[in-house]
Amino acid sequence: MTTTDLWVDAVQDIIGAGRRMDRFGWVPATAGNISRRLPDGRIAITRSGGHKGFLTPDGVIEVGMDGRAMHAGDRPSAETLLHCQLYAHDPAIGAVLHGHSVASTVLSMVATDGAIILADYEVQKVFEGQTTHEASVRVPVFDNDQDIARLCTVVAPDLGRMPAGYVIRGHGVYVWGPTMDVALARLEGLEFLLACELEKRKLRR
Ligand SMILES: [Zn+2]
Repeated sequence: MTTTDLWVDAVQDIIGAGRRMDRFGWVPATAGNISRRLPDGRIAITRSGGHKGFLTPDGVIEVGMDGRAMHAGDRPSAETLLHCQLYAHDPAIGAVLHGHSVASTVLSMVATDGAIILADYEVQKVFEGQTTHEASVRVPVFDNDQDIARLCTVVAPDLGRMPAGYVIRGHGVYVWGPTMDVALARLEGLEFLLACELEKRKLRR
């Protein structure tokens, strides 16, 4: 593939992911951001603002590993740094998704021990290294912070130990994978489990 073909391929992945996340209601208003690392190392990510369900190729920009735009006039979201942190940590990561679902927002606001624990669900097996529903999956919850560089330092110690991704309190999830398809499957798995957990807690008296 030419460098242009690689870019077009990544942009199509991002537009498709935005539509799918919107269909589930995980990117309300201008929420969320979506990125892909190209085989040549370039990072394509959604521009700041704009609805992720109605993305066009113009809504995707190139950033460097420092989270800054590679082309004058492009404005990346501040949260781009959290994507870059994941790409820098693991060269096998090829796609990162961030959404603001109702379940992740609500559950993270009531989580008291720094994590949401998912146990006994069959769907847990969608996550890397999980072969049985009998093990529990720990989804770390980090306090929200508008200073994203500072938030990166809080996330850093858990890198490599988050098979289902992580949640920012009152805000949303970060999920990743080697390809966009795998990242989307993991996001769908995590959101399904968080929705189940929310429903389960509503039934408790
Ligand atoms: Zn966000």
